[in-house]
Formats: sequence, structure tokens, C-alpha cells
Amino acid sequence: MISSVLPTYNRAPLSFVKGEGSWLVEADGRRFLDLGAGIAVNTLGHANPDLAQVLKDQADTLWHVSNLYRIPAQEALADRLVELTFADTCFFTNSGTEAAELAIKMARKYWYEKGHPEKTGIITFEGCFHGRSTGAIAASGSEKMVKGFGPLMPGFVHLPFGDWDSVADHVTDSSAAILIEPVQGEGGIRVVPDAALKTLRRICDEKGALLILDEVQCGVARTGRLFAHEYAGVTPDIMMIAKGIGGGFPLGAVLATEEAASGMTAGSHGSTYGGNPLGCAVGLRVLDIVSDPGFLAEVNRKGALLRQKLEGLTAAHPDLFEEVRGEGLMLGLKCRIAPADLVAKGYEAGLLTVPAADDTVRLLPALNISDDDISEAVARLEQAAAALSSSA
Ligand SMILES: *Cc1c(COP(=O)(O)O)cnc(C)c1O
Repeated sequence: MISSVLPTYNRAPLSFVKGEGSWLVEADGRRFLDLGAGIAVNTLGHANPDLAQVLKDQADTLWHVSNLYRIPAQEALADRLVELTFADTCFFTNSGTEAAELAIKMARKYWYEKGHPEKTGIITFEGCFHGRSTGAIAASGSEKMVKGFGPLMPGFVHLPFGDWDSVADHVTDSSAAILIEPVQGEGGIRVVPDAALKTLRRICDEKGALLILDEVQCGVARTGRLFAHEYAGVTPDIMMIAKGIGGGFPLGAVLATEEAASGMTAGSHGSTYGGNPLGCAVGLRVLDIVSDPGFLAEVNRKGALLRQKLEGLTAAHPDLFEEVRGEGLMLGLKCRIAPADLVAKGYEAGLLTVPAADDTVRLLPALNISDDDISEAVARLEQAAAALSSSA
């Protein structure tokens, strides 16, 4: 008999009943150190008292009014995002997938309104992940995600990851945009080199295409910069964010330049819940905290500390691990074993990590994780690794 919850996930047999900072408490009382943070979502840890207060205050005041009216918290968050980034305008969503949908629509509408209705093609890269809507799975082209869901939305061109010099050959007169994650998350913490992002920006400028960056996972201070593309010194035309911006409250956004957004006039897009007072109040507080230069410096210091310890672990277990990769507190352990085995041994050691493609285990702790918890996490990983080595 089918479970009451649609069985689309292979869930670990763990039920958490309480969270506190970087720790989660299981129903049976066991405490787990969380290096997954709800898949890069709980930016400031579980049940952050500051965010909880903002949420409670907003809950006591106003939850939802719809976008038929102005929403002060939404305007404040949009103003702040515009101040801090390349963007001139923002649209709020409840998830990364919805942000992907709008980013794709916005790029196509831009060219349509410019008198180029033929420019509909979107170039994406192998291993990418942009969500699970019919549009987003078409964007990924991954066999596993698209199988049985056709016919797929046409117009996507999938290129290999890493062959940056050949991208220009695939951008044609019918291309609307290049869509890429500066650091692939689900794809296995694969960093697009700065030089490659610069190349993509140049190709877009030369050939007349928009650059869309998906920073749903790598954005919002995760890599040690407020947004990952800042490392390359280039800016996109359109950017998607979600995950970290809500700190655990479902919130996403599309940020765009005035030019790229010029096709999106009144009535062209909408959302019932997107940008509601609850999400925006929390998002504004998250953004205020993580955009502080002192906070970002700490993310970098902690990222370097965790990375150094992981390099040690990798050197001690060359049979299990190939390399450490990523930026800031978005790190991946490329494994020589099945990543699911390491994740499972982690559970036994009271540690939560997240598997990804390309034989990688992701480490995505809360950005305010303590140095002690970093040391404890690596000790537990060491325990998991030792168990795997001895069983091999
Ligand atoms: C998680 C993710 C998405 C989809 O976000 P949802 O909130 O799950 O819809 C899109 N792009 C990237 C890079 C992601 O990591």
C-alpha cells in the first residue's frame, strides 16, 4: 500500500524533533551535528533566536495579503538586494524552482519584446540542477529527472561541463540565454572557474544572449562572498536565489537588471504567496546579518579551517577520498567509494552530510557554525571514514 506521503524520496530513518544551531535532536534523543543545514538552507542554524523573534513579531502582525497590494517588508527586502547587487529589480518566489521558471520566462520575453521572437534557446551544462518543474527538468536534461515526463519544454541546449572554450560555437542567433550555477550543488560541488565565468559573460555580450546565474545553492554568503559570481568579477543579467535567503522559511527571488527585466510588464507574471510578509521579514534579517563584511570574513575563515581539516582527512584516507573542492562553506568530498556509504556511516557517528552527483558528499553547514563544531564534525567524519576503511 502506498504511504500517505507520496514516496518520491528514499528517506533516512531519522525523525528530528528539535533543532538548535548546528545540532538536531532525533525523536529518540540522539543528537546529530548537522553539516547539511537542510540542503544549504538554514544559513544561521536551526531555530535561530533572532530569526525566530522576527518571525514571531511578523506572525503577530500580518501574514499574508497577496500581491494585489504593496507589501512593505517585500519592498524593504527588494531595496536591500538592489543595493547589495548588480540588480535593479527583484521578484519574490517561494522556491528555487519558481525562480528558475521566471528566469527562463524573463529571458525569452526580453528578446520577444526586442523584436527577436526567434531567440528562445537556453544553454545549460551537464550536471546542472535548476529544480523539478517541467521547465527546470528540461533545462537539466538529466535522464533520471526527465524520464517519463515528456514531452519536454523545447529550446534547451545541453553542453558538457568544463569545455568552456567551445561554448561560443553553440551560441547562435536563436539563443536567448546561457544559464549556469557558478558552483554546481547537486552536480557535486563543481566550481566554474573565474576565467570560465568571464568567458561566458564575454560570449553573451558578443553574441547577444543574456547571462542567467543560478545562485539558489551557492548564493547568500555560502561561498564566503555574498554571491559566488563576485569572485569572478562579472555580473549576470538575471540571477536566481532561494535556499539560504530565507534561513529556513521558504523564500526565493529573481534579481535582474532593468534592461533584462524590461519585458516583464504588469500581468506578465505573478505569485499568490511570493514575497509574503512572513518570508520577507525573515529574509531581510538574514540578508542584514550575512551581508556584513565581518560575517563574510568569518565564513571565509571557517571555510578555510574546515577545508584544511578535510584535506587532512583526505590525505589520511586516499583509499576513500580523491579531493576536497568548493568555496567557503560550500565544500565537497569527492569519494572513491559510494557517497551514500559515507553519508550512512556519518549517521552512525551522529553526523549529517548530503550526497551529490559525481561521487561527492556535500558539507554545507550553517554559516555561523562554531570552530568547536567544525572540529567535532571532522572527528565524526574521521570515525565514519575509519569504519569504512576497516570494512573494505
Ligand atoms: C535547490 C536548487 C534549485 C531548486 O530549488 P527548490 O527550492 O528546491 O525549488 C534550483 N537550483 C539550484 C542550484 C538548487 O540548488
